[in-house]
Amino acid sequence: MISPLHQQINDAVHKVWGYKTLRPMQREAMDAILTKRDSLVVLPTGGGKSLCFQAPVLVTEGWALVISPLISLMKDQVDALEADGVPAAAIHSANTPEERDRAAKLMRSGKLKLLYVSPERLVQQKFLSWLNRHPPVYLAIDEAHCISMWGHDFRPEYRRLRELKDRLKGITLHAFTATATERVRQDIVEQLDLKDPSLLVGPFDRPNLTYRVRRRHDAQQQVLEAVRRHPGRAGIVYRIRRKDVEETAAFLRKKGIKALPYHAGLEEEERVENQDAFVRDEADVIVATVAFGMGIDKPDVRYVIHAGMPQSVEHYMQESGRAGRDGLDSECLLLYSDADVATWTRIFERSNGENGDSESQLEAKLEQLYGMRDYCRSVTCRHKALVGYFGQELDEEECGACDVCLKELETMDGSDEVGRTVLEAVRELDERFGAHYVAQVLSGSTESRILENRHDQLTGYGALAEHRMRDVRDWIEQLVELGYLERTGEFRVLELSTAGRNVARGLEPAPDLLAPVKKVRKRATSKATVPGTSEVDEALFERLRNLRMRLAQSRGVPPYIIFNDATLRELAAHKPENPSHFLAVKGVGQRKAQQFGEAFLDEIRQHVREVG
Ligand code: ADP
Ligand code: ZN
Repeated sequence: MISPLHQQINDAVHKVWGYKTLRPMQREAMDAILTKRDSLVVLPTGGGKSLCFQAPVLVTEGWALVISPLISLMKDQVDALEADGVPAAAIHSANTPEERDRAAKLMRSGKLKLLYVSPERLVQQKFLSWLNRHPPVYLAIDEAHCISMWGHDFRPEYRRLRELKDRLKGITLHAFTATATERVRQDIVEQLDLKDPSLLVGPFDRPNLTYRVRRRHDAQQQVLEAVRRHPGRAGIVYRIRRKDVEETAAFLRKKGIKALPYHAGLEEEERVENQDAFVRDEADVIVATVAFGMGIDKPDVRYVIHAGMPQSVEHYMQESGRAGRDGLDSECLLLYSDADVATWTRIFERSNGENGDSESQLEAKLEQLYGMRDYCRSVTCRHKALVGYFGQELDEEECGACDVCLKELETMDGSDEVGRTVLEAVRELDERFGAHYVAQVLSGSTESRILENRHDQLTGYGALAEHRMRDVRDWIEQLVELGYLERTGEFRVLELSTAGRNVARGLEPAPDLLAPVKKVRKRATSKATVPGTSEVDEALFERLRNLRMRLAQSRGVPPYIIFNDATLRELAAHKPENPSHFLAVKGVGQRKAQQFGEAFLDEIRQHVREVG
């Protein structure tokens, strides 16, 4: 038996957002709010946190106050709520006079349901006394990890939230975050002084994301190849350094891809322009440092490529989590190299010197970095490894959505032979050369340096000539990762470890090596709960995207505010014929059905007439 309150919530979610079901933990999060119990809700990026604090106030009297750290986030959510017909407003330093008037009017009218404010507001006397006279029914704190010094985005203003709590007697606090560490969660509870809070940690797995990890041999080419798997779709490419951001963006543009750069070194104006172009689907790819992403709620990012290794698994979850918020299949590709570990180590050491961080902070960062490296090197299901990092387990044997389970990484027949050949060559070269050189010798390169050194006389010369040089390089990297080879000195010369020496001498078998990666199949079928490719009329989907673009441009909002891709795909699968069919489609709420129903129904009718 479903309780009347649950029924009301279901109805509201259905009527306003067009969702027929709640996602994991959303019900519990809403229950905490409705039963007036403080809560801390931890859901991964894209897990659906906003709905948790937006829906309950629609079935109660009064209004709710939402604290959010970023103006772009507030704007986005208010735009979306408005489009769904929910009276909402945001007050922050970038308000236009019209926005301010609108907000003031809503606040006076008593119709207001959700008010977003930045934490800085909370010290303004005028606003505080207004709050005293018109107390909200609850307080939601988005990105609550900002309150913690141990989080990745500490904002001291968040500490003042506690004062607000004292001021508004009896109000309940509901904190939301995607943070994974126990320490930060503890800190949130303490700093906000949550009373007997309901701790709700949702499943961290994102079944619609397909994870791949590859060793990097040619960043530009590998990125291009992945981008081309998603023509005309939105994607984010992360690079560690600004210079690489610029280069990759230019490279992609030269290849005819609508790519724009984003990093902290660009003029504010250009950064905002590039971000907007991406959000509005005017550019397909944004190439960025990690400076990009916070405050972007774009739901239809189809892929996130890391062309360099992120600094921790937690960062990786956060950054890759920006793919596929709408629940549709999306790809997360990570290209890594051992050199990334060195790059991050240098960055940490430098910032340690500058900020005077303690040794233990540096150690903690390095530990997380090594965790990330281990993830890259491992050959176990990526979904399992990632949720495992956050202390969760997956039941399924195979996820069907990672390079390991898709059998893209398979051990190679005859790896014993290959492994031994590589190690013998390193010994023959007196352990005095780097990976590139060793690979050249094994491939039988006729480069002058090799001939001058008379290394064409070695037994190992050309021993792996029938393989691609880049595969030989990859095997060398694998042997380093497996501990058979070590790199030393300024020139990163390859030396044999004890195990490596034993293999080279024939005392031990060589380890299993992975075969060269085959070309990625076009589409992995993840367990995403949306219409499959077979049901969707792709031509109609493209047509609806165009219509959405036109509607969005005439209204000056991002296209996804009209409908997200998941909803368009539902429409392109079900092809509703009349308003009531239209309203029944997942993701269509009443307000949007009224506003956009005719336009979309017309487009669908026309398509059916033309194509049959
Ligand atoms: P988070 O803040 O946790 O990163 P969001 O609140 O932005 O995630 O939600 C991610 C996406 O999921 C949004 O596009 C939202 O429309 C969608 N969503 C949320 N809840 C549901 C639901 N119950 N059914 C279908 N889609 C949902
Ligand atoms: Zn898997």
